[in-house]
Amino acid sequence: MKDGLAEVADLDARDPLAPFRDEFRLRDGLIYVDGNSLGALPKATAARLAATVTEEWGEGLITSWLGANWVGAPQRIGNKIAALLGAKAGEVIAADSTSVNIFKAVTAAASLRPDRSVILSETTNFPTDVYMMQGIEAFSGGRLKSVTVDPDAVLDRLGADVAVLLLTQVHYKSGLIRDMAEVTRRAHERGVLVVWDLSHSAGAIEVDLNGANADFAVGCGYKFLNGGPGAPAFLFAAERHHDAMPVLSGWFGHASPFTFEEDYRAAAGVTRFLCGTPPVLGLAALECGVDLMARADMRELRKKSVRLGQLFIERMTARCGEFGFALVSPADPELRGSQISYAHPHGYEMVQALKERDVIGDFRAPDVLRFGLTPLYLRYADVVEAVERLRDICVTRAWDKPEYRVRAAVT
Ligand SMILES: *Cc1c(COP(=O)(O)O)cnc(C)c1O
Repeated sequence: MKDGLAEVADLDARDPLAPFRDEFRLRDGLIYVDGNSLGALPKATAARLAATVTEEWGEGLITSWLGANWVGAPQRIGNKIAALLGAKAGEVIAADSTSVNIFKAVTAAASLRPDRSVILSETTNFPTDVYMMQGIEAFSGGRLKSVTVDPDAVLDRLGADVAVLLLTQVHYKSGLIRDMAEVTRRAHERGVLVVWDLSHSAGAIEVDLNGANADFAVGCGYKFLNGGPGAPAFLFAAERHHDAMPVLSGWFGHASPFTFEEDYRAAAGVTRFLCGTPPVLGLAALECGVDLMARADMRELRKKSVRLGQLFIERMTARCGEFGFALVSPADPELRGSQISYAHPHGYEMVQALKERDVIGDFRAPDVLRFGLTPLYLRYADVVEAVERLRDICVTRAWDKPEYRVRAAVT
């Protein structure tokens, strides 16, 4: 039966990150294993947003651009994110969506390789990454070409025609981690610049952008960074690339936005990768999530993430072994980000049935149940209980209902 529960209680009792759970608003009984898709709400965020709206906006009105330093928020929060990712202050800004930042980073990188035409990625990359490449190809009027190859064939495709390699470090479906330093080294040997998508890395695993000699990176604010729905994303540009000419040359990336000059002059540093007016409310919420993450020791966070993952797999094998789940994530924790994915032909229905039992995970087509492991607020006991509820659904076939088969617009 539920063997090993004493050890699990002990793991929670000795967990140095345990106090963080109380910093989040999470309903009793709910097991939230979808923080890799939308992070939970930090308690500090509601008060911060209220103050930003009522005092800074309501009272301060336009004077808050300077009075509350709204104008410095993209760089200030960017610097805090930089510290989480092994980047220097001045190399990261918080802005726009990940998709838009992919456009900005890929076009900037391509402009540094004017004699090369290929933007390369892998076929199973997150769709928006590849969609953006295809849009860039169309936009470039024939200069750039979007090419995707099998995940295993990426390094072999790094030829003299490749300008930019766009890869996601932690795969959104399987959780497989790419070796950032090694891939970057191999790409640089061939003269290729790399744009890393860190959507499932930031706040999830230890990242060392400068240690890996990375060129550009982008990532989400609303996943492991707990910045809220549609939070601003971030963009990293290594200092040596700060002279790249941005294509989205909006006025907030201008050297002097408020002198209203006729022609664009790029700002110094990573600021040139800003485009329009920063979304102040979204940035305020993002900063609360980032501040919380900044208080956590990333090594402890990774250690706990690995243990949560191992426990999840152990419990699945012991309690759901007979129900036909196939592990999609790498079994080796060194190669796995902060999520566990299983394939099952009835995965979609099971994710719906789990929701009714207060376990929120998610589903990724065609057949993957995905469970995000967020060490700041997930307990070891939650992992055990999530698997128990899944077992119950399998034993009773509670997933086998016609209404669970109807696919929703958001999964
Ligand atoms: C979640 C995710 C995105 C999201 O992009 P948005 O523009 O923020 O919607 C992009 N890339 C990857 C790899 C993701 O996992």
